[in-house]
Formats: sequence, C-alpha cells, structure tokens
Amino acid sequence: MGIKKIGILGAGQMGSGIAQIAAGRGYQVVLRDIKQEFCDKGLKTIRSSIEKRIAKGKATAEDLEKTLANITTTENMEDLKDCDMIIEAAVERLDVKQSIFHDLGEICRPDCLFCTNTSSMSITKIMSDTKNPERGVGMHFFFPVAAMKLVEVIRGEKTSDATVAAVYEAAAGLGKTAVECRTDTPGFIVNRCLFAFMLEAVHCYEDGVASVDDIDTAIKLGLNHPMGPFEMMDLSGLDTFPHVCETLQSLPVTDWSTPKAVQALIDAGKFGRKSGEGWHKY
Ligand code: NAD
Repeated sequence: MGIKKIGILGAGQMGSGIAQIAAGRGYQVVLRDIKQEFCDKGLKTIRSSIEKRIAKGKATAEDLEKTLANITTTENMEDLKDCDMIIEAAVERLDVKQSIFHDLGEICRPDCLFCTNTSSMSITKIMSDTKNPERGVGMHFFFPVAAMKLVEVIRGEKTSDATVAAVYEAAAGLGKTAVECRTDTPGFIVNRCLFAFMLEAVHCYEDGVASVDDIDTAIKLGLNHPMGPFEMMDLSGLDTFPHVCETLQSLPVTDWSTPKAVQALIDAGKFGRKSGEGWHKY
C-alpha cells in the first residue's frame, strides 16, 4: 500500500513528534487536536525541536521549512477523510480512543490503516467499535520520537496479516525498526519489561535499600544503561505512570522462581555464551 497522507490525532508530546518525523520524511500530515491552540502548541514544539537540530548542525533551515509545509492542522475530524493511515496519539483514555476510531470508521476509506499509539491499553478494546477492525493495530512509538528508533506493532484479536505487513512498511518509511508483539498483552513488550524493572527500583527505594540517586547511579554504571530508572520516570512524566500500572495489574505478580524456559535451556546444557548457546547461538 502506498502511504502518502497520514492523519495524526493529538498534537501533544507524542503526536507532535510523530508529525515531525512523518512530515520530515515527505509524508503529507494532517494533525488534528480538539482545539486549534493545542495544534499551534504542537507546531511550536516541532519548530523548536528542528531549530535545536539546526543549531547542532543536524538539520537545515530548508528541512524546517519543508517539514512545516507538509503539515496542516485542524480541529475537524472530517479533514482526515482521505488519509491513507491514521496514527492516534490522543490522551490515554479508552473511551476517548474508542470514540475516535468509531468516528473515523464512518469518515475514512475502508482501506485506511488505523493505528493507535497507546502505551498500554488493549488494541482489541480500542478497535471494538470501528468499521473494518482488521485494519486496526497498535503502533507504539517511544519518546522522544525523533530520536527513538523502535516501533512496537501490536496485534489486536482481529488485526489482519496484511495490516501488520503494511504497518511494518510504514514504520520503515518513517525510519523506524518495527518489532511484533504477537498478543494484545498489557504493556506489550517494552512497557511490560520496563515497568517490572521500574517498580522494583521504587520498591528498593521504599524498602530503604538505597537512595534515588544511588539506584540511578547503580543501574547506569552497573548495567551500562544510559539513564537510571528514576531519571527515566521523570523523562516520560510521572502523571502517566499510574495509568500504565493500572493496566498492568491484570498480569500475574512476578514470580521469583526459575522460569521453565530457563530451566529447559540449563537442562539442555545451554548456559549462554560460555557453552556456545543460550537464548541465542554464539
Ligand atoms: P499529551 O497529553 O502530551 O497529548 C495528548 C493530546 O491529545 C492533547 O493535546 C489533547 O488535547 C489531545 N486530545 C485529546 N482528545 C483528543 C481527541 N479526541 N482527538 C484528538 N486529540 C485529542 O499526551 P502524550 O504524552 O503525547 O501521549 C499521547 C498518547 O501516546 C497516549 O496514548 C500515551 O499513552 C501514548 N504514549 C506516550 C508516550 C510518552 O512517553 N509520553 C510514549 C508512547 C506512547
């Protein structure tokens, strides 16, 4: 499918970032928010992000001009009607997302791809009230969008293989590497792993094991992470933290016993690099 025009819902932190990379790569972007002032704020964020890149010699004034010329803004959902692809990055509320895709189902072409950038909610539920739900899929970008290379592609119960293939192609067009989350599990791949890790960091702090600064330093120097867990929580915004925790609560509590899959590798003599094979072959 040749994607030329992308509709983006929500001109906040994520929507403006996605609009920036899409417009910068030559796609026509229609950026929609509920009020024009939010769209204007999004455009201002895009401008200042590219100006910072210009100051660092990573972009030119021409890039800025071209990017902004490829973006139109609107409050009106109808303006998304001839888009080839929708990326929804509105607030993390199920009722809002369901209503957006219900309305878009009435407005857009049946072959328009419906992608949601939800951090943690069920794709199946988000797409439950839209026409042609087989074109609905999770497309989870990471913050800051311009710098982060990954996109998680999440299958809902009805997502078709053709939709997954089309989103992989679109992700490549946006300069991102896609990975597939095969089930509609809370937190998908990255947040499920990340929140287990960040919650343990907070529990260490609350249990008096170490200070916030020392836990950040320990993880950075001990595990070579570019950022400590508390620095990462501050970067992504603490206000979104409880929403993700609430979604992840349906997962089983972490069991500290050796998982069966690890025991099976040990039993097969696969100890990792030292034996030439573990999860990967060496
Ligand atoms: P944000 O609060 O910065 O922006 C959300 C925007 O959506 C606001 O401008 C709001 O006015 C707008 N909005 C609300 N209802 C709308 C509607 N019906 N139509 C169009 N726009 C609407 O939030 P954000 O951090 O950009 O997050 C957006 C989405 O991306 C959420 O689902 C979030 O979970 C997800 N996400 C966030 C991050 C992150 O690090 N911030 C990372 C990945 C995914």
